[in-house]
Amino acid sequence: MLKPPTIPNTFGFNFDNSYLRLPEMCYSKQLPTPVIKPEMLLFNEELATQLGIKGENNLLAQVLTGNVIVEGSEPIAQAYAGHQFGYFTMLGDGRAHLLGEHITPLKSRFDLQLKGSGPTAYSRRGDGRATVSAMLREYVMSESMHALGIPTSRSLAVVNTGEIVIRELYHRGAVLTRVAGSHLRVGHFEFMNKAGNVEAYKIFLAYTIQRHYPHLTTTKNPALSLLEEVMHNQIRLVIDWMRVGFIHGVMNTDNMSISGETIDYGPCAFMNTYNPETVFSSIDKDGRYAFINQPGIAQWNLAVLAGALLPLISTNKEEALAAAQEIINTFPSLFEKGHQQMMLNKLGLKGNLGDDKLIESLLELMTHLKLDYTNTFYALTVGNREYFTQHDALETWYDEYQLAVKNDNAEVRLKLMQQTNPAFIPRNHIVEEALELAALNNDTTHVQSIIQTMKKTYDYNYNNETYRRVPQNDNTYKTFCGT
Ligand code: AMP
Ligand code: MG
Repeated sequence: MLKPPTIPNTFGFNFDNSYLRLPEMCYSKQLPTPVIKPEMLLFNEELATQLGIKGENNLLAQVLTGNVIVEGSEPIAQAYAGHQFGYFTMLGDGRAHLLGEHITPLKSRFDLQLKGSGPTAYSRRGDGRATVSAMLREYVMSESMHALGIPTSRSLAVVNTGEIVIRELYHRGAVLTRVAGSHLRVGHFEFMNKAGNVEAYKIFLAYTIQRHYPHLTTTKNPALSLLEEVMHNQIRLVIDWMRVGFIHGVMNTDNMSISGETIDYGPCAFMNTYNPETVFSSIDKDGRYAFINQPGIAQWNLAVLAGALLPLISTNKEEALAAAQEIINTFPSLFEKGHQQMMLNKLGLKGNLGDDKLIESLLELMTHLKLDYTNTFYALTVGNREYFTQHDALETWYDEYQLAVKNDNAEVRLKLMQQTNPAFIPRNHIVEEALELAALNNDTTHVQSIIQTMKKTYDYNYNNETYRRVPQNDNTYKTFCGT
C-alpha cells in the first residue's frame, strides 16, 4: 500500500495533537489509505474561513482524502467501545482518521477528522470506506442542525475518491471531513474502564475535563461532576432534537458525545407527521431509538457512562454507586422540566395554570389527526387560523389557546415562538432527491440549495412553501445504514 507523502502546510492548519499525549492504548497511529482520484465535490467555504483554512481545491482534495499529509498532522484512529442496541462491543474508529486538532485564529480547538479514509486497526470486517450519498447526507444534516442552532459536528468537505464502494449495491466512494469540539464519546469511557488501567484512565479523565469542562478541574469529585455536566448537556441536546422533530436513529453509546454535540449522523431524519413512535431506521426493528424514546435512551446511555466512571468516583464501590445513582436519578425530573419549558416556548405560553393541558391536548390532536409537526407550529406562530379550522376539535383547541394568550404581549410571544419553531426543516424527500442527483450526476446544486435554504429556517419573512409541502407516502420513509 502506497504511503501518503508529507507536504508543507500552506493551508493555515494549526495543529496541536493533544490526543497523542495520552497513553498509547487510547489510539493507534494510522495513515489514511490513498484513493485513486480525489475530486472535491463539496467544500464549506464559510466554515473554512472560520477555521482559518484555505487552499487550492485540487490540493485540498488531496489533503482531505489523506492522499497527502500536511506537516504537523499526525493521523490516528481513536480506540473506544460502546453499547450498540444494548450490547457491549469493542469498537474504535474503523473508517476514520483524526488528522489532528486544529486551533482556530480565535484559539478554539477542533478535531479535524476524515471519515471513509480507509481501514484502521479497529475496522473489524469493514472496508474503511464510505459512500458518497452517506457522506453528503451527513454534510446536509449536520449543517442543517447547525443552522437550527443545535450543537453538532460540522462538515468541511466531501471529496470523491474515484473508487467504488460495495454495500448491497455498487456506490461511488467519498471521504467526509468533519469538524467537532472533539469526538470523545461515552464509549471512550467504557473502553478505558474495560481496559482496567486506573492510572491511564485517570489521565484520560483529566484530559476530557481539561478539554470540555475545565471549570470542573478543582471540584471535590471531578468524575462525578463530569457525569452531572454531561447529563445536563445531553438533556439540553435531546430537548433541542425534540424541538425540531429530529430523530438521531442510532443513539448507541459510541455515538453519544461527551461534549453534548450531535455526532455520527447515520440513519437520522426529521419527522414530518407528528407521531411519537416514529422510527426511520430500517435496522431499528423494535423502535429502540424512536422519537419519543430518545430521552429514555439518553438516560440509559448516561447510566452506562456512570457505570464506567465508578472506579474514578470512589475506590469504595458502594459509595461510588450511590453517588452516581443519585445523579442519574435526577435525569427524569430535569428532563421533564426542560422539555416542558421548550414546549411552552413552542406554544408561546408562560406556564400559567392550564398551559400544560393545552400542550398535551395539542400533541394528542396532532397524533390523532396526523398533522405535520413543523407546519402545525408554524401555523400557530404566524396565527394562521384557517389551518386550525380544518377540524372541529382542532378549532376548539385553537379558541382555547387564543383565550389563554389573550392578555399576553403579542410581540414578545411572537418573537419567542419564531425563535423556537423553525419555519421549515430539510424534508426527507427533498434531501433524498438532492442526494440522488449528487450521487448519480455529481451535481450538488440541490444539496447546496438545502444548506443555503436552511440558513433561513428562523426567518419568518422568507416564504418557502416547497419546504413546507409534505409528500403523501411520508409514513413509509425509511433510512438505511448501508453507509
Ligand atoms: P456507526 O454505526 O457508523 O457509528 O459505526 C459503528 C462502528 O463501526 C464504528 O466503530 C465504525 O468505525 C465502524 N464502521 C462502520 N462502517 C465501517 C466500515 N465501512 N469500515 C470499517 N469500520 C466501519
Ligand atoms: Mg459511530
